[in-house]
Amino acid sequence: MKKILLLQTGGTIAMQLDSGGAQINTDKWLNVIYKEMPELRRIADIEVENLFFEDSSDLNHTHWKLLAEEIFKKRKSFDGIVVLHGTDTMAYTASALSFVLQNLDIPVIFTGSQVPMSNIRSDARRNLVNAVEMATHPISEIAICFNDHLFRGNRSTKMSIGDFDAFSSPNFPPLAQIGIKINFSKYVRKDVNVEATCSPLFDDSVHVIKVFPNLNPEMLDCINLERTKAVIFEAFGIGNIPIKGKYSLLPFAEKCRDSNCHVIINSQAPYDAVDLSQYSSGRELLKLGGLSGGEMTMEATITKTMYLLGHNVDEAGFREQFMKNTAGERSKN
Ligand code: ASP
Repeated sequence: MKKILLLQTGGTIAMQLDSGGAQINTDKWLNVIYKEMPELRRIADIEVENLFFEDSSDLNHTHWKLLAEEIFKKRKSFDGIVVLHGTDTMAYTASALSFVLQNLDIPVIFTGSQVPMSNIRSDARRNLVNAVEMATHPISEIAICFNDHLFRGNRSTKMSIGDFDAFSSPNFPPLAQIGIKINFSKYVRKDVNVEATCSPLFDDSVHVIKVFPNLNPEMLDCINLERTKAVIFEAFGIGNIPIKGKYSLLPFAEKCRDSNCHVIINSQAPYDAVDLSQYSSGRELLKLGGLSGGEMTMEATITKTMYLLGHNVDEAGFREQFMKNTAGERSKN
């Protein structure tokens, strides 16, 4: 039987519903796993470890570091690791870990639930059974298993608040579809022969600016560009921002460049890729040294930026690494 480690980090899957809403319940959680889901032990030899119990909205890079180091430490003692995690920032954590933990040769499968496990009509049991099953397969990926799909972690995004089908990977096919049979995609990474590394360094000196009609550039004056190392625009469509009249964001982008702050452009549209060569607004950004997020999710764009900044690469190194596919997060520029 395969040995699987279940790492608990919190989220709805670890919560109980009471009159005050969903609350983290550490004791009940362990009872549920050991007593109420004996079927898990028919899939694998399970060991459970509580790393922390947090609503995932409260997670930051200190938790990512803890989790990455624990996975790195345990990787040789288990055939696979399942991370139980809140859905709200699951795609951020999975993306961040894909940059931190390079060349892992075991599956690291994130899962969680939309409804606490203690509810009768909860998605927790199915997600957990599927995730443990996935962790027994030869998948060298950091992935998210949710509602019968397995997605590459750094291609995933939370799409729904209220539907069991909460995740999607808009620009990458699912790694597996779990039905009566399990259909794996040809893109699943296997057989990594390079030694794994763990480098959990992040720099949070980043701003994300959502572009919208009437975004007054004066409102951006309060951003301290001396303290900022990267600005990520969540732009329109293929990577457009306003470039005319008082609403032009080009003077702000120029100020960023003059302060040695990277200007990164991603899109509000989750499907397809940013291409800055298509319209004059993108071409102006390119002239200023703007970097295209391509087909990356916002989660991958933000965590990759913080990861590269955390590693103090020089400007040319940052630009090169950002545009490159480093962990399966992008395939085009
Ligand atoms: N607020 C919860 C969390 O992300 C939501 C969930 O798990 O679905 O921790």
